[in-house]
Amino acid sequence: MSNFKFMEIDQLLKELDKYSFKQLHLHHTWKPSHKNFNGQNHIKLQEGMKEYHLSLGWKDIGQHLTLFPDGKWLTGRPFHMTPASIRGWNTGALAVEMVGNFDLPGTGVYNELGYDRLKGRQREEILKLIKYFIDKYGEDTIVFHRDHPTAGKTCPGTSLDKRELIEEAKKLDKNHWGEKYYYNLAKKGILLDEKRYDDFMTRAEAMALVDKIMDRVMELIKEK
Ligand SMILES: [Zn+2]
Repeated sequence: MSNFKFMEIDQLLKELDKYSFKQLHLHHTWKPSHKNFNGQNHIKLQEGMKEYHLSLGWKDIGQHLTLFPDGKWLTGRPFHMTPASIRGWNTGALAVEMVGNFDLPGTGVYNELGYDRLKGRQREEILKLIKYFIDKYGEDTIVFHRDHPTAGKTCPGTSLDKRELIEEAKKLDKNHWGEKYYYNLAKKGILLDEKRYDDFMTRAEAMALVDKIMDRVMELIKEK
């Protein structure tokens, strides 16, 4: 049995907040491509990838996340584990495979499944993740597989331009000024369940927050 789990982007970003990453690695699967996706076979395609990766002698599926053509996210290798993503740059990376062959016709390595474009929901979702990385870690942390000098690949596809994706992501809604405090608290181990930046706090919520802070402070004292 696999532990693959579907995640909505908000839930995913909240989960990612518990970790610290150095880079976001972007790949296309090349195979399977959009043609292999029928709208329902997410798990099956993911299992196929895992099987292939195990056959290469890897200890698990290579990537942390797979993004399907319908914009759905499926988890793969646990986030706390180093991915099999880009040799030499794996430590501290978050590895994402986008299902599709995003090479332009006539470029990259041919496969009989044809060429796809990163568009619609799939594009919107990857932009949200890119935006999250830009805001939290800076735009230099966005890495294409082909950026590595010895990658020898077009991955994530010659139709994709990193600069263009970064600029597009930056145009997504500007973050609330409270965002930075939310992340600062998360980094200190104080996770708030919801952002709701502009809502009033009830007395119960204030008590819950103080309690969380006290617990965390006690933990820190014990760690000393
Ligand atoms: Zn790749």
